[in-house]
Amino acid sequence: MRGVEMTGLSVDVLVIGAGIAGLTAAATAASHGLETLVVEHMAAGGQVATVERIHNLPGFAEGVAGYELGPLLQQQAEEAGARFLMDTVDSVHRAERGFEVACASGIVLARTVIVAAGSSRRKLDVPGEAALEGRGVSHCAACDGPFFRGAITVIAGGGDSAFDEALVLAEQAGEVVIVHKGPAPKARRAAVTRAAAEPKIRVVANAEIVGIVGEGEVTGVALQSETGAQTIAAAGIFVYVGLAPNSGFLGNLVETDAGGRIVTDATLQSSCPGLFAAGDIRAESPYLLASAAGDGAAAALGAIHRLALA
Ligand SMILES: Cc1cc2nc3c(=O)[nH]c(=O)nc-3n(C[C@H](O)[C@H](O)[C@H](O)COP(=O)(O)OP(=O)(O)OC[C@H]3O[C@@H](n4cnc5c(N)ncnc54)[C@H](O)[C@@H]3O)c2cc1C
Repeated sequence: MRGVEMTGLSVDVLVIGAGIAGLTAAATAASHGLETLVVEHMAAGGQVATVERIHNLPGFAEGVAGYELGPLLQQQAEEAGARFLMDTVDSVHRAERGFEVACASGIVLARTVIVAAGSSRRKLDVPGEAALEGRGVSHCAACDGPFFRGAITVIAGGGDSAFDEALVLAEQAGEVVIVHKGPAPKARRAAVTRAAAEPKIRVVANAEIVGIVGEGEVTGVALQSETGAQTIAAAGIFVYVGLAPNSGFLGNLVETDAGGRIVTDATLQSSCPGLFAAGDIRAESPYLLASAAGDGAAAALGAIHRLALA
């Protein structure tokens, strides 16, 4: 990401997060001639930055890799005039003419803010998980799958990500055991059907993961189910048990729903005038890339309209 001189920095629109929502917001705001800054603390692309293939994005009939999409959108935003700062936003406060956004390397003044900080993966919160993170506990089948060639691996979760990633992992692993709590998976039917047709994938329903076993590296995953306790001998576990919104840095500045997602009006403005929300972080988001992009464009238009009236 391009370097930005922080001292006295003041922008029209500050976008928090360079996922699909933030990058689309930045391209839209910058193309309307607004001084636009994106603050992101990881690589561009957000949650899909490591995903092997996305199949449901308009315009990509053959699918597209997440690691290709992020740089494409960043390039588009930069060509429109947006600037990028590699940093973490720690807090946002109201200021006389907008907002004071505190980043790790300093404060940026912004007339409007678009929060597109998305979600982070939830953890299992079981013994062994923290100690074995990166030593067999992973969240990315596409990145870490090659380390488990021929090995038995466990996938925690029964949603779309769990089933999609199981199919990716099955290309490398010897066996993939999907473990989910309920009687039936929540993943879309097509993914469940594809997994059922893959001989390397086995599904264990109605079971809870209660521990990850291993000294220095994962050697097993402990389960509890109605039929009792068991340990699956496995070299790795990939965790896909839901997402939590990255809204903590806003404190009490905006109204959120019970899950911490930002409540907005139809223009995607939050309860705090001048602060907009886009993508997964917005209450009632459908959690899709296409809707995140739409949100980004809509939030930018909201900010443009507000600045035009100021
Ligand atoms: C494994 C997986 C596969 C998926 N596959 C698909 C799919 O095939 N099709 C589909 O439609 N959807 C898919 N999704 C859902 C999709 O990824 C999300 O809906 C989408 O990424 C939301 O985009 P976003 O821009 O709102 O947030 P995110 O993608 O979460 O991006 C938010 C960005 O904000 C940054 N950030 C957060 N906090 C801060 C901070 N304080 N300071 C600076 N930067 C910050 C993060 O680092 C991140 O880059 C998938 C999700 C996962 C997890």
